[in-house]
Amino acid sequence: MATLDVNEINIVKKELHVPPLDEIKDVLKEGLARNFFDVQVEVVDCPDLTQEPFTLAAPGLGGNPTVLEIGGPSFLLPLVHRNKLYDVQQLLKHLQCCKNPFVIGAGAGPWPHLNCNCELMMNMIVSPTGVKSGTHIASVDKTNGNCVLENLPNNETRLAILANLYVSDGKPGQVLKVHAKKRTGNDDFIACMQKAMAQHYEKNLVGLGGTFLMKDGKIKQHVMADFSTTPLNTEKELNNWLHFYNMSTPLVAVGTFVSSESDVDLRVQHFHSFSHHGEGGHYHIDTTPETIEYLGYFNLGSVLYRIDQPTSKLQFGKD
Ligand SMILES: [Zn+2]
Repeated sequence: MATLDVNEINIVKKELHVPPLDEIKDVLKEGLARNFFDVQVEVVDCPDLTQEPFTLAAPGLGGNPTVLEIGGPSFLLPLVHRNKLYDVQQLLKHLQCCKNPFVIGAGAGPWPHLNCNCELMMNMIVSPTGVKSGTHIASVDKTNGNCVLENLPNNETRLAILANLYVSDGKPGQVLKVHAKKRTGNDDFIACMQKAMAQHYEKNLVGLGGTFLMKDGKIKQHVMADFSTTPLNTEKELNNWLHFYNMSTPLVAVGTFVSSESDVDLRVQHFHSFSHHGEGGHYHIDTTPETIEYLGYFNLGSVLYRIDQPTSKLQFGKD
């Protein structure tokens, strides 16, 4: 199936508010401290993220930091729009936001690749000279319901339906280092930072992208089943269709979070994780608050592109 022509997709560009890292550091810390026993947030030089445990395709999160949101849950629910297939390579060439785009984040995988719906953990450099991909997809084994994690080859740059991506030149530079241990509140690692940001930047749109490691615990994650042939009209029907797992760590998540939905119906947070032990999916929360440890590196986006925003807004499906 052909991908959508980038020249025919509606794209809205928004400038993001970019507070100093030292300022947002304190905002995130406040939110985390309400939910974790042990919290450190610092501004540091980004470590080499190509190394273990992160194993990303590029070393850093610097250079033309850009947040992308493509499509949305309305293209999945109540029934799938199979034509919503995008080529991220073409899209990034069209946007010209980075010279050597390094793209990470969460979305729906290219269903024609498996002939089945799947979760996407995008992690690739899409340079003019070629693609270097460390992207994973996760799907549900139709015979036993187990999660199946696979690598995408370099020539597969498509995604479907929806995605929340962070794009940069992958250069080293200053980033936010976030370390949190032992969860004492009800919010997950990202939600507590997102809520603090929403409160502090009421009038401005702030967007972050990056990666985080989860270790010493178990994580509630879902993987989408193949497209439902019966309409999914409620949150309950959606949750019955999704497959939920209690996955083992270490897991490495990639994605974005923003301070508000703004006027373009943004998803305020979306992270998917992968591993090197066969598990991966959509991050919800750890199930072992006593032992869990999170270590994240994030950077502020300066521009956001809202790509192919659905005309109808769904009241569920954004968790
Ligand atoms: Zn997801």
